[in-house]
Amino acid sequence: MTGPDSSLAAFDRDDQSAGAARKRLFIGLITGASALLSLLLLALWVVPFVGLNALHPAAPWVLGLLVAAAIGLVGWASLGLVLNILLGRSLPFSRRLRGLTIKLFLPLMVLLGKALGISKERVRSSFIKVNNELVQHEAGRYTGKDILLLMPHCLQNSRCDMRLTYDINNCKRCGKCPIRDLLALTEHYGVHLAIATGGTIARRIVVQLRPRLIIAVACERDLSSGIQDTYPLPVFGVLNERPHGPCLDTGVSLPLVERALQRFLADPPAPRGLPMASEAAAPGPQARPGAGQGA
Ligand code: SF4
Repeated sequence: MTGPDSSLAAFDRDDQSAGAARKRLFIGLITGASALLSLLLLALWVVPFVGLNALHPAAPWVLGLLVAAAIGLVGWASLGLVLNILLGRSLPFSRRLRGLTIKLFLPLMVLLGKALGISKERVRSSFIKVNNELVQHEAGRYTGKDILLLMPHCLQNSRCDMRLTYDINNCKRCGKCPIRDLLALTEHYGVHLAIATGGTIARRIVVQLRPRLIIAVACERDLSSGIQDTYPLPVFGVLNERPHGPCLDTGVSLPLVERALQRFLADPPAPRGLPMASEAAAPGPQARPGAGQGA
């Protein structure tokens, strides 16, 4: 069994080595998007230049200075973001960079990706990868009650009749879907666990529980929109597994979720040693959504 420090090192190492292609795509798109934005800003100066000259001889130059400052700002932000990704280290403005990425660059990157024939899924996947790195730089460590594991409804076995959205303890822990093991993980680490059927329920859960960090499992689309919706709240995204296609009996890498918990908990207990197939539906203390325990 490895300790929290070696687990953290393994987490950081794996996370850095994984997704190199997604990082390259992100860097390419963000560079293109910032160049497009700069051209647009430049056009905003060039077009009225003739008219402004008639108003006052200095007016075009004042506007030109403003546009140059805006271009410099966009260039500075995208360069800072790329450097942040490449260096893998936290820069002083990393929190703002995540905001800029979410609010400004992601929509532009999706548009640019579409024009270049790159699927939204790939763009979103690269965005999630980079968002996770920025969250790791920006986020500290938290007690269990400050962390929420937010799961999609499609993780639940499609033949299971238990209603979990309002009380996850309705799960009978039969082991036919990952909810049983997630409950065990939640109890081990003392964090919140909730299931959302959509964005509205997810937002409601966040408002209710007021977590300081969310570890969310979902597809590329839902994770991207969730990260955007909850900003500035840090969301660490874990992509779900879809062996039966989208939205049906999906899965999640439990070791990945556990490593994220080890990474973000202030004083995590020893890892449970996943996979947890041996953890049958044993009775135990029930995790209550809305009543997380401190780590
Ligand atoms: S573990 Fe069993 S009871 Fe619990 S949600 Fe999955 S299928 Fe339903």
